[in-house]
Amino acid sequence: MKNIIIFGAPGSGKGTYSAEIKERYGMSHISTGEVLRAEIGRGTELGKTAAALIDKGQLVPDELIIKILADIYDQQPMGRGVIFDGFPRTIPQAEALKEMLAERGHDMGYMIELVVDEQTLMQRLLSRAAKEGRTDDNEDTIKARFDVYHQQTEPLIKWFEKEGMRHTFHWEGSKEKMLEGIFDFLDRMRDNG
Ligand code: ADP
Repeated sequence: MKNIIIFGAPGSGKGTYSAEIKERYGMSHISTGEVLRAEIGRGTELGKTAAALIDKGQLVPDELIIKILADIYDQQPMGRGVIFDGFPRTIPQAEALKEMLAERGHDMGYMIELVVDEQTLMQRLLSRAAKEGRTDDNEDTIKARFDVYHQQTEPLIKWFEKEGMRHTFHWEGSKEKMLEGIFDFLDRMRDNG
């Protein structure tokens, strides 16, 4: 199975669909957000740097995240493909990922873009705040995360388009419908090698 990059604004469901894809195809899953939250939990240097930025809705500097990504990738079981969730988020991160995979003779695979209107995103993130208690799920930080997404992450869509990797899925009102579309696509890709 090729790698998958799951891409979308905060709250678009990257983690949710990653878990479903992981389960169906036996792939492994790297969420840079989860990696950073674990670093914060362990109180590492990276965690300390990340905590302040995450709480402001800002991105962790490219060089820090790029530095840890190759190690995490190399720890995954090979052969079944990796789902990258929340990475890349900037063009330098995308270039670094491309290079890191090329050095290993691996393919970037497919980019799955999740498109959801901003009002739905805001509602989801606020209701997640009540359930999961993530420190960055409050209205001010969410707005900052949307700004960062538009300014730094959205330009990547064109980058993926140029790489011929972009596959877009629009929110259709239910998780099941979204999954049907995504699984249909991935099944077809798998059948075609
Ligand atoms: P969401 O997509 O809902 O914002 P994530 O768990 O993917 O949630 O990310 C949470 C935060 O972690 C981001 O706002 C950012 O501060 C940090 N982060 C995660 N991934 C990256 C990355 N690839 N580069 C820089 N910062 C990141």
